[in-house]
Amino acid sequence: LSFSSCNLPKKLEQNLENAGYELPTPIQLQVIPAALLNRNLVISADTGSGKTASFLVPIISRCSRIRLQHFPHERRPLAIVLAPTRELCVQVEDQAKMLAKGLPFKTALVVGGDAMVSQVHRIQKGIELIVGTPGRLIDLLSKHNIELNEVCILVLDEVDCMLQRGFRDQVMQIFWALSHPQLMMISATISHEVDRMVSLMTKDLLYIVA
Ligand code: AMP
Repeated sequence: LSFSSCNLPKKLEQNLENAGYELPTPIQLQVIPAALLNRNLVISADTGSGKTASFLVPIISRCSRIRLQHFPHERRPLAIVLAPTRELCVQVEDQAKMLAKGLPFKTALVVGGDAMVSQVHRIQKGIELIVGTPGRLIDLLSKHNIELNEVCILVLDEVDCMLQRGFRDQVMQIFWALSHPQLMMISATISHEVDRMVSLMTKDLLYIVA
């Protein structure tokens, strides 16, 4: 199986090719088709498996199609990726920018260490994807009016690590602020704690192990 059998936007297919992603990795083979069918996924995957592209490809495909159909004057966020560290967020955003080149798909990074005002401005100018750490995003949402009612996909990357860092309540707070987004949760190990949090969010889950 190849990326071209996934019915992705042409530009995204080209960007995957330019990145040297010739064939989907095992995790991508399972995640991309299921995600495009709107399933809620719990994905057991480590760094190096291609997990990042497995959630970015369906996000970019779905969100850019929404924009290609209708490009509103005010573009509100359509997807959120939460990750435990600034470094991981930067990597995810970089890969998203690369894969979305030439498509109506812009990103905003919401992490500590950069001025919050510039992050808010960027979101207000119109973006499709927010990539951020839970603490910083909660902080930003509590001080600024950002509309999240159009967010249709929420990704929790390295969930086990976010729970270890004590982000559980912040992640849940962000989840409750959204209206029934599609969920993709990635974890190296699916612990009881991960399972318990996930089951609070939805009962309709597909587990994927590469
Ligand atoms: P990740 O597991 O998301 O941290 O990705 C590990 C590395 O694999 C990254 O450097 C990606 O750029 C690369 N990668 C992701 N998907 C593919 C693919 N289908 N083919 C080749 N390399 C890939």
